[in-house]
Amino acid sequence: MDISSYAAPLPPRQNAVTRRLAIAVGALFVAGVIAASVALLGIANRLDTEEISKTRFYSARALENRMTASKNYISSYANWTTAYEHLSNPVDINWAFTEQNVGKTLFTNDGYDGVFVLDRERTRYAVVRGQLLDSDVSEFLQIPAATLVEQVQGQSDLSIPVSVYSLFEGWPALVSAAAIIPNDARPLGDPRKTSVLVFVDKLTPTKLRALGSGYGLSNLTLAPDETLARDRPRVALDNTGYSLIADLEHPGQRLLWSLLPPLGVTMLVLMLLTAYFFRHALRSSQYVDQSFAVMQASNLALESANRGLEASEERFRAVAEAASDWIWEVDRALSLTYLSARFSEVTGYPQDFWLGQDIGQLLFCDTTPLELWLRALTEQTNTSDLRCTYRDHSGEQRHCRLSARPIFDQHVVVGYRGTASDITDEVAAHAQIQHLSLHDALTGLPNRNKLARYLDDALLLKEHAPALSLLMIDLDNFKPINDSLGHPAGDAVLQEVATRLRESTRDNDIVARLGGDEFVVVLNGMDSHAEIDKFCTRLIGSLHQPVVFEHHPLHIGASIGIALSRRHGYVPGDLIRYADIALYQAKSEGKNTWCYFEAHMSDQIQTRRQMEDDLRHALKHNEFVLHYQPRYKVDGKQIVSVEALVRWQHPTQGLLGPDVFIALAEQTDLIVPLGRWVLREACETALAWPPDILLSVNLSPAQFAVSDVVEDVREILVETRFPASRLELEITENVMLNDTDCALITMNALKELGVRLNMDDFGTGYSSLGYLRAYPFDGIKIDKRFIASISSGANDRAVVQAIIGLGKAMGLTVTAEGVETEEQLAILGKDQCNEVQGYFMSRPIDKVAFAQLLQMSRTDHPAHKKGRVT
Ligand code: C2E
Ligand code: MG
Ligand code: MG
Repeated sequence: MDISSYAAPLPPRQNAVTRRLAIAVGALFVAGVIAASVALLGIANRLDTEEISKTRFYSARALENRMTASKNYISSYANWTTAYEHLSNPVDINWAFTEQNVGKTLFTNDGYDGVFVLDRERTRYAVVRGQLLDSDVSEFLQIPAATLVEQVQGQSDLSIPVSVYSLFEGWPALVSAAAIIPNDARPLGDPRKTSVLVFVDKLTPTKLRALGSGYGLSNLTLAPDETLARDRPRVALDNTGYSLIADLEHPGQRLLWSLLPPLGVTMLVLMLLTAYFFRHALRSSQYVDQSFAVMQASNLALESANRGLEASEERFRAVAEAASDWIWEVDRALSLTYLSARFSEVTGYPQDFWLGQDIGQLLFCDTTPLELWLRALTEQTNTSDLRCTYRDHSGEQRHCRLSARPIFDQHVVVGYRGTASDITDEVAAHAQIQHLSLHDALTGLPNRNKLARYLDDALLLKEHAPALSLLMIDLDNFKPINDSLGHPAGDAVLQEVATRLRESTRDNDIVARLGGDEFVVVLNGMDSHAEIDKFCTRLIGSLHQPVVFEHHPLHIGASIGIALSRRHGYVPGDLIRYADIALYQAKSEGKNTWCYFEAHMSDQIQTRRQMEDDLRHALKHNEFVLHYQPRYKVDGKQIVSVEALVRWQHPTQGLLGPDVFIALAEQTDLIVPLGRWVLREACETALAWPPDILLSVNLSPAQFAVSDVVEDVREILVETRFPASRLELEITENVMLNDTDCALITMNALKELGVRLNMDDFGTGYSSLGYLRAYPFDGIKIDKRFIASISSGANDRAVVQAIIGLGKAMGLTVTAEGVETEEQLAILGKDQCNEVQGYFMSRPIDKVAFAQLLQMSRTDHPAHKKGRVT
């Protein structure tokens, strides 16, 4: 599953963006409004300014035009010959006023309020508002008449009129003055004497309004300067104190007033709309943000859930594909609905082959029907394992461990799912282990365990079961073969014996190997002596046949002990023990024979058992003691050595000699710890004695066989710091008999430790002189049997003499043991034996007594007094 399909890309926060956008748009809007307002105000201002200048311009132009018109009009009167003739001194009133050439019509038609004819001296003609008056012009005009006359007469061209503004009867008026001159070519004379015609055009509001309307000026009028605001646009009328003004339209302001309210309203509406829009946008963005946050949170949750899901899927895949497990699912009807990919790999079947089929067709359990087992799983927590078998695609039977859980849909079981672990190898390994645990690895025969099981089953029904005969077989002469020719030879012998035993028995019999050279045959349904005897004869005959190993014929034999279920009971352990006892008996009766168990044998064995237990106990509780028997020079006086001899301080039976327990200790391997104890104890004790006294310790042949005697001796020497050169080990010939090569190696190794070796009981065993040559002995001890008879029979003395001669010839120290009489000592002295040991000189005594003896013998020395202790 692609996680990206769930996790949307994360947008920036909408609220913040909208806020920024709102501020930006708001700022733009305000800037726009300000710019528009400034532009509008500028336009309005410019319009107003233009209007002012226009008003001023047209006002001035209207005045100028009125002045020009007035000048032209007065020129048409003054520059007229007839007028010159009638108005120069004196004024023709008739022509002027009565005939109305320069009279009343100028007021009524042309609007001149005053018509005057002046000269330098006085006012010659005066008509005011159409009325002829005899008044001086100065009564009406503010400007002095003389100034006006001089101004007119002072011009270079008298035909050009002069216009000024002056108050007339207190109100501004346009005063035009022109010299009254003929318009013909006659000479004028002194201009100072020319009369001056004056027209006064009083600038009344009516006239001005009419004048202004001609120029589009509204309400053109005059106002005293002091009444006008300083910035009021005006056209000043010279020094009259009045200015011409007109009403200002203020188009800019009008424009503003006409535009501002709707503009303001529009702006306001726009602002409100924008604010509303942004508020809405903000809210939306907030909502978007919140939704986004929620979405983000849910995205995160989703993402993490997805990650979890992915990990879980991954885990599932890993689990499903790893190991040898495959995963299965079935529906309510137990039809397979799912099989993981591993299924194909493990079983070799394509998944499709089995999908839709009943799981019971695939898997089989011989103890519980699969369906029953599945239906029993009713709880979610119910899990269980079932071992099943199936045939894989190649037809091989395989084993699997099935685990299952019910699948629920609304509390109803709708199917099951689980795993199947392939345990074929495990089962095979288990079977192998089972086999190994029940069989002997070398021969493949059932071992002691399997025999025990077999007997348990076979004897379960006691007398109702078929009779059983249990034959315990021990091979004769096996140990020497094994020891001398090595284990391969021993193994070959054992395998061959196993084969022969199997061949001699029937299918319902059992042949087992208990270990070493001990075998058991159980004859099923056979218990007559005649039959058994026949069988044993055949068996011994078969085993007596030589076993060929590497072209060498190896000869073995067999002893058989027999126990019968019907006679001796139905307890397997007892039967084996009885057969063992009978075997013991058979061996003691001579080899290659068989013996049936008898009750009395059991007692002997029982005693032996008890003894064995006691021996173990004794070892544990330090019940052993050492006695010491000195060895003398042949003179029987000078102690040269001392032999440690073990005794058992038995709690009930008193002090027991080694002949009672050493053999048993050897048979049970207790000889090893016992031998170690003796050596250690002897070394520790002898350390207190003079260094020229040697210490003899007996070693059992069994110690050679079952322990590393060299290491034991070395260890004890090191630990006790007893000098190896003072130690002498006594070994009987049997050591050499058991394992010739091995014994030689061991003895050489012992010699290398620096100890002496003495051959004990020389003459009792196989007494081969060859051993003496081959083995590194330092001395021999002639067995007491010979010594006992040297004084009585010449033959034994000759043997002893021969041994002494031979021993000495080989450089060995010859000791005679068991010297009980003075005579014997004397003979040995004569025969030049080296050393003597025996009750005659001293019995074995405890360490305290021996120390005293030593003391005494030393004190007595050199008198060589004989110290006899009994
Ligand atoms: P052995 O090593 O030949 O010891 C000599 C045996 O002869 C001893 O018997 C000793 O008491 C006995 N003896 C000594 N002088 C005379 C005598 O003049 N007349 C007679 N009739 N016997 C005499 P013991 O102590 O009963 O030992 C018997 C055997 O037990 C020993 O024979 C030795 O083979 C074995 N043995 C004793 N102690 C040990 C031991 O610590 N370890 C081992 N492996 N064997 C031991
Ligand atoms: Mg000895
Ligand atoms: Mg001896």
